[in-house]
Amino acid sequence: MATAVNDEATAALWPATLPGDAANQPLTVAPALAKKLEKLGIRRRFDFILHLPLRYEDETHLFPIVDAPYNRVVLVEGEVTAQQVQYQPRKQLVATLADGKGVLQLRFIHFYPSQIKQLTVGNRIRALGEVRRGFHGDEMVHPKIREVVPDMPLADSLTPIYSTVNGLNQPTLRKLVQAQLHSLPLDDTLPVSLLDKLQLDSFATAVQLLHQPTPDYSAAQLSDPQLSAWQRLKFDELLAQQLSMRLAYRSRRQGAAAVMHSKGELVARLMASLPFALTRAQQRVLAEISTDLQQSHPMHRLLQGDVGSGKTIVAALSALLAIEAGYQVALMAPTEILAEQHYFKLSSWLQPLGIRVSWLSGSLTKKQKQAAIAEISSGEASLAIGTHALFQHGVEFARLGLVIVDEQHRFGVSQRLALQAKGGESHQLMMSATPIPRTLAMSFYADLDVSVIDELPPGRTPVVTKLINSQRRDQIIAHVDKTCAEGQQVYWVCPLIEESETLQLQTAVDTHLQLSAELAPLQVGLLHGRMKPDEKAAIMSAFAANQLQVLVATTVIEVGVDVPNASLMVIEHAERMGLSQLHQLRGRVGRGSAKSICVLMFEPPLSELAKARLKVIYENTDGFEIARQDLQIRGPGEFLGARQSGLPMLRFADLEEDIALLEAAREWAPLLLERFPEAADAHLLRWLAGREHFLKA
Ligand code: ADP
Ligand code: MG
Repeated sequence: MATAVNDEATAALWPATLPGDAANQPLTVAPALAKKLEKLGIRRRFDFILHLPLRYEDETHLFPIVDAPYNRVVLVEGEVTAQQVQYQPRKQLVATLADGKGVLQLRFIHFYPSQIKQLTVGNRIRALGEVRRGFHGDEMVHPKIREVVPDMPLADSLTPIYSTVNGLNQPTLRKLVQAQLHSLPLDDTLPVSLLDKLQLDSFATAVQLLHQPTPDYSAAQLSDPQLSAWQRLKFDELLAQQLSMRLAYRSRRQGAAAVMHSKGELVARLMASLPFALTRAQQRVLAEISTDLQQSHPMHRLLQGDVGSGKTIVAALSALLAIEAGYQVALMAPTEILAEQHYFKLSSWLQPLGIRVSWLSGSLTKKQKQAAIAEISSGEASLAIGTHALFQHGVEFARLGLVIVDEQHRFGVSQRLALQAKGGESHQLMMSATPIPRTLAMSFYADLDVSVIDELPPGRTPVVTKLINSQRRDQIIAHVDKTCAEGQQVYWVCPLIEESETLQLQTAVDTHLQLSAELAPLQVGLLHGRMKPDEKAAIMSAFAANQLQVLVATTVIEVGVDVPNASLMVIEHAERMGLSQLHQLRGRVGRGSAKSICVLMFEPPLSELAKARLKVIYENTDGFEIARQDLQIRGPGEFLGARQSGLPMLRFADLEEDIALLEAAREWAPLLLERFPEAADAHLLRWLAGREHFLKA
């Protein structure tokens, strides 16, 4: 699919008028209807064109009842010969339809008075539905029915079925779509030469076929994602995404940011004080960041590295580059626990170099907060560490130059937009332990530069993963005891209970009581999301200092926690957790030199899906591979989580299936922007209609 991009003839083949205006014409419908359409994402006239059918129904052909095949939707016609509202086993409307040779029951468990009327004995009816073998002979359950009037023709093409909302029926929606299809210009946004090279349909051909299929297409053909019409729409969608990503990237490069020159003295001093040397991968990404910081446009770099790959020290060294150049740095983490750990760790590294590190979180007293804010705004603090409180109202940096965001994917869109507003001119380093599979990186993250730490620090013994039936809980507890007797520490992760946070809390409290009793005199701590931040911090530091040997926790510890002496992790009800989540949790152990074990406790019987997922985590230690399989199981929507909310998701394209189209779109986007900027504009307007700004968050 990917083709060489060079064509002099393109300009000559350019369509005379670009369809930009048509794309944005507002709707002229009653407010009540507009509200329903809004729910479908239809705000402009052109959105009807892009509201493509979910599937098709075949009303082009009438089957004699005796010949009607089972298990597929068919249309039959006949006379109602009996009608009855039954009350056993439950209330239902049953009518008998006969066409001379065959007989069929039409059964409705939910029905309206209008349907009783339509099914009056003697009426001629067309019924569309699946014929099934019922207890009393062949039947259709909830068929679509229509009264036959004399000379009523059959449809001459398949009937498109659209996604819709309550109160907006298919025929009405279909009419609205048809009206726009016949009145709006459907000119192409793309050069003909591009379409030729990629062998794509014209836009008009594609949408006309999909909204109004010709009789020679079967429902199966029309639903085939390989159909050229669908290929065209997928390409358009992917191209729009690529264009907007590139524009975001470009506009950032045109922005101004501080050029940071540093001799690297602070970096050298910190490195000299560390008990370890940087891995080659850490050195490489630090060099990439250093180069970025010396540019006059803002850095926007994603630093990816599997759990335990050592991102924190890279963040600290990057901060030193900015600080030595005379700027302030903000380090933001998604949870209090993580932010505070960073605060302790970075203070211990940086304070000895004479650098003031300040701490800002929602849990500080008013007085402490004011003190922190004062240090930040006077410039006395060179590094400010905290949660999103760092970018809230009232916090003004004296000379902010670099923003570092840890576990970037944990932040919601609104938090990222707030950061963008305050720190937009700063260099930004986003760190994430959730590896992004290639296709996602190529599409949703195409606006970022990416550095990868693809190597773990030396001397780690890989974590051994064990799958253990929860019936062997006693043995596991005995093993916890033994591990602690050897001087190591243990995490015990309580199950995720999605339906009820209260229940989840209760489970954690119960487990804590039980383990405290069984493991005495070992000290067992409890950590959960409902605790006050200072309570959490106290527990975490007690655990870090080995005053607590066992830490019972909810998944709050999933992110970033670093206690190298912990070498055993027990996860209850592992089958309820997501793969990335399990991988993150498991990454909390195996950080020291001791051999580490992660016990995935499961509750039998396991579903096939649960088995498949646990197998993935059991067999793989590479976060990338786990993420790839996770993406396959969950799909990109959930995988992307917060980054995607409020953002136009891919509606037609599928990242696994349409990789060739994605590659082609990625290749063509820069060419269009450079040589046909009006076309790129028209294309963006058609597909994204001013929603592009979300993509920049
Ligand atoms: P993550 O990438 O998951 O945030 P951390 O930055 O918390 O990982 O690092 C995990 C552990 O590895 C920490 O205890 C850290 O001090 C240690 N570490 C980092 N880099 C190295 C290195 N090059 N050699 C040895 N240990 C390292
Ligand atoms: Mg980390």
